[in-house]
Amino acid sequence: MPELPTWLTPTMSALSQQFIEGRLPHGLLLVGHPGNGANLFSTNLAQRLLCLDKANQPCGRCKSCLLIASGHHPDLKVVEPEGKSQTIKVEAIREVIRRATETAQQGGNKVVWLKSAETMNVNAANALLKVLEEPPENTFLLVQAAQMARLLPTVRSRCRIVQLAQPERSDALSYLSAHNQLNQPVDVLLSMVSGRPLDALDLTQEQIDTWFEVERKFVENQSFTELSQFLAKQELSQVLEQAMLWVDTALRTQQNPNSQSDAVSPTMMNILRQLEPVSLFGFRDYIVEKRLGLQRQANLNVQLMAEELTWQWLGLRGMQ
Ligand SMILES: [Zn+2]
Repeated sequence: MPELPTWLTPTMSALSQQFIEGRLPHGLLLVGHPGNGANLFSTNLAQRLLCLDKANQPCGRCKSCLLIASGHHPDLKVVEPEGKSQTIKVEAIREVIRRATETAQQGGNKVVWLKSAETMNVNAANALLKVLEEPPENTFLLVQAAQMARLLPTVRSRCRIVQLAQPERSDALSYLSAHNQLNQPVDVLLSMVSGRPLDALDLTQEQIDTWFEVERKFVENQSFTELSQFLAKQELSQVLEQAMLWVDTALRTQQNPNSQSDAVSPTMMNILRQLEPVSLFGFRDYIVEKRLGLQRQANLNVQLMAEELTWQWLGLRGMQ
């Protein structure tokens, strides 16, 4: 199993200690983003809870540890969002509860791992409540969510909340340097995924190419029609993140010339450096507003948004 990133090890040690002392609650709400290692944390914790060597968990050698490593442990049930709606449905929860009441096949503990638990619908959450109130014997429930606010308060209140740490940028960079297979500076990769190192490891060459192409179009294209048509074909939430990075880097560089980023080209920096901070802040406010709009409402008019963004950008550069 991949090693746990350094920023997650103190929490893991604390939980392991509580488990060894028999003080670990059976319902744990693990709050963290998979891009910061939340999935890795859950798998590691599951291995600890299932390992048959009580003295040296996880031993990595017992039958249970080997089954986890192979990805098929009969006493580890994983529930994930499914279907077009990408939600966790009540049937999935009921099935897991039914299985959890059976005896553990390896004679140890049983673990139920709910991935992206914030996608549970209300019925599923209510079914989960019952099992959280009276967990079957030797069963641990790992309820993992990127955002706690989207879970029912009743689910939250029945779990021990474990807030998983987010990496400092320096920790994220060294983790990425150790694991990166792509031929790109890690600083660029990390900037592409809002600083989440495990998301950076999932990037494809195509996504990286698109990232640079988007910047090139913004730099070179001065035609409203061409730029807006190009943008309408892109993932706009990603473009907004990238534009935010440009603006933030430019604002930082105006205060401290050494804070340049490899993720923003010198040409783009030259363009932004010539702009007044007040204009950059105005553009930044616009991005923040649109980002929120995208989060709240999935079906926005893409064409309209692309045109608006183009209008704002060309206006910023005095090209309207
Ligand atoms: Zn073991």
